[in-house]
Amino acid sequence: MADIADHAKIDHVIYNEHYNLVPDVAKVAEMLDADPAITHVSMVHSETTSGILNDIEAVGKVVKEKGRVFIVDAMSSFGGVDIPVADWGIDFIISSANKCIQGVPGFSFIIARRSLLMESAGKARSLSLDLYDQWKTMEVDGKWRFTSPTHVVLAFAQAMKEMEAEGGIPARNRRYTENNRLLIEKMNEMGFRTYIDGIHQGPIITTFFYPDECHFTFDQMYRYIKERGYAIYPGKVTEAPTFRIGNIGEIYREDIEKVCGIIKEFLEEYDHEEN
Ligand SMILES: *Cc1c(COP(=O)(O)O)cnc(C)c1O
Repeated sequence: MADIADHAKIDHVIYNEHYNLVPDVAKVAEMLDADPAITHVSMVHSETTSGILNDIEAVGKVVKEKGRVFIVDAMSSFGGVDIPVADWGIDFIISSANKCIQGVPGFSFIIARRSLLMESAGKARSLSLDLYDQWKTMEVDGKWRFTSPTHVVLAFAQAMKEMEAEGGIPARNRRYTENNRLLIEKMNEMGFRTYIDGIHQGPIITTFFYPDECHFTFDQMYRYIKERGYAIYPGKVTEAPTFRIGNIGEIYREDIEKVCGIIKEFLEEYDHEEN
């Protein structure tokens, strides 16, 4: 977000917490009180870097109390976690076709408070990413301003049908949450601890510490699992050696059991001094 703001030459201040902590609402209130120049607050909901699920409801409440605009990056939560957008005071919520909606990559979308969207006319700092202009064009003839990502739209329509058939967001959230809990349970049994505390752990992606006495590399583990049909991610938090397992997508209990079985075999083969 800071990179985007820098590039677009948007003045900003950053409120950072460690990767394993959620933002403190009191600090957000303090910053807003101290700096009337702050007009917008933008935050991530499901932080894909760590797996934490931030409390956008509590922050949104403060942002609204202080009369600021609230923007939420819900890239990796929208569709997988229920978000009462209006009740939580979210003015702009951003997501894309290819995460919890389970479509293919190719476009993002923003659900916006109409009055604020209209006020943004002519303010975009990018020609192609001009949200107001895109909206206005679609209102006229339903078209993208530039070449439409036709295949992505078709896949998106299909993904929405599949979401509905599954039972909507509550059912998808249940499946993701159950998969995630089972994953953590089985990983714990093998001695892997989670980086994020239980209460803030989201249902989308989980960061695990390597075992204390670790005799393998991420690359060895990645390859072993990949050859057997699954892919995991390297860790991205800077302060601790970790790796991540994501469970967005057509993933079911049997996949979690299988991937944990593969990791167990891997440990039996690799986690010895001689490797
Ligand atoms: C995936 C993701 C992004 C980036 O999405 P792109 O489609 O790669 O642009 C941004 N924020 C969060 C929280 C994400 O999970």
